Amino acid sequence: MLRDSDRIFTNLYGFHDWRLAGAKARGDWDGTKDILAKGRDWIIDEMKNSGLRGRGGAGFPTGVKWSFMPKTEGPRPHYLVINADEGEPGTCKDREMMRFDPHKLIEGALIASFAIGAHAAYIYIRGEFIREAEHLNYAIDEARAAGLLGKNACGSGWDCEVYVHRGAGAYICGEESALIESLEGKKGQPRLKPPFPAGVGLYGCPTTVNNVESIAVAPTILRRGAAWFAGLGKPNNTGTKVFCISGHVNTPCNVEEEMGIPLKDLIEKHAGGVRGGWDNLLAIIPGGSSVPMLNKQQCEEVTMDFDALRAMRSGLGTAAVIVMDKSTDLVRGIARLSKFYWHESCGQCTPCREGTGWMARMMARMAKGEAELSEIDLLEEISRQIEGHTICALGDAAAWPVQGLIRTFRPEMERRIKERLAKTRAA
Ligand code: SF4
Repeated sequence: MLRDSDRIFTNLYGFHDWRLAGAKARGDWDGTKDILAKGRDWIIDEMKNSGLRGRGGAGFPTGVKWSFMPKTEGPRPHYLVINADEGEPGTCKDREMMRFDPHKLIEGALIASFAIGAHAAYIYIRGEFIREAEHLNYAIDEARAAGLLGKNACGSGWDCEVYVHRGAGAYICGEESALIESLEGKKGQPRLKPPFPAGVGLYGCPTTVNNVESIAVAPTILRRGAAWFAGLGKPNNTGTKVFCISGHVNTPCNVEEEMGIPLKDLIEKHAGGVRGGWDNLLAIIPGGSSVPMLNKQQCEEVTMDFDALRAMRSGLGTAAVIVMDKSTDLVRGIARLSKFYWHESCGQCTPCREGTGWMARMMARMAKGEAELSEIDLLEEISRQIEGHTICALGDAAAWPVQGLIRTFRPEMERRIKERLAKTRAA
């Protein structure tokens, strides 16, 4: 279990003052000027050495991402964009960080902006997060008034402003290039890549897009050292992570733990166990709705990190752990998710626009037991035609839960179809 002294988010539950005085008392903004004085190369190397992998879902190394930005400032300004459009079903960690620890994010924004040569950082926050946007704006004003942001931020000689931009509720704006389009005032639709944002991002300028948690942990990593962070977790899956545990557990919660904690331990130590006991467990979606679910046996074996979950053909994703006990109708649950992705598809590419609709309609028939047995293979084939054939990852995100259901619970899908067929024959 993570020691309290290794915890980064010490106000995750809002028990303490989230304003500047409280944040400073918890160690935020301590020695920020000294960190900046060590220079961009030192900061980026330290982030690389920490092994931090992006906390938004993809798990790309944060320090490496920062190093992709041009080394010198050309005619085009550089930008930092922080993705706070937290919309993945089951995920509610960035919300709590922004509500109760906004200064961690703002200090991180300053340091990351300096490291990539940006004088402006935009926090693109989900429109529904009204209280969180208020806290961020309040904290930004406090930081500016204290000389920590703005001109000559922290006395470092670096000018940096942080702006909060509220989204309008589209799930697809959590995709980095759709988010950039939306920030520019356009319809939030993903861009074809390449070019990648580090070359052509916001307003056509070099841009780094990072998740809230990735930026919020950076100041602590740089204060305590890369070796400290890399010493937590597992090789290639270092540090701590905030997990969101929801569904059929006794005490749903957000909790910061070491990467690589066994999934069963995570649920039993922090969420009060599965409702009705572990034997009542049916399945878990371990990383937000986009990743395939695991059955009970897999849940007993897996550890919560990028590599272990990938080896089980699932994923850590946003680390949103959705627990389902034996009362759950899994087919209906995945049918509901399919409808969600169909609704949120931006419609640009055919496999996603048409395929998500086909999957949603077929899953609805499966849930009612109205499908034919042969349609299970057809459903899988459609999901394969979507996966990897779209502009952005929403297509994959729609396909994977369906594939996971078929792979793990095919007998249950067949059972309800056979039951309906038997009833029809009897009638
Ligand atoms: Fe839009 Fe879907 Fe294509 Fe992504 S995959 S660009 S959401 S249509």
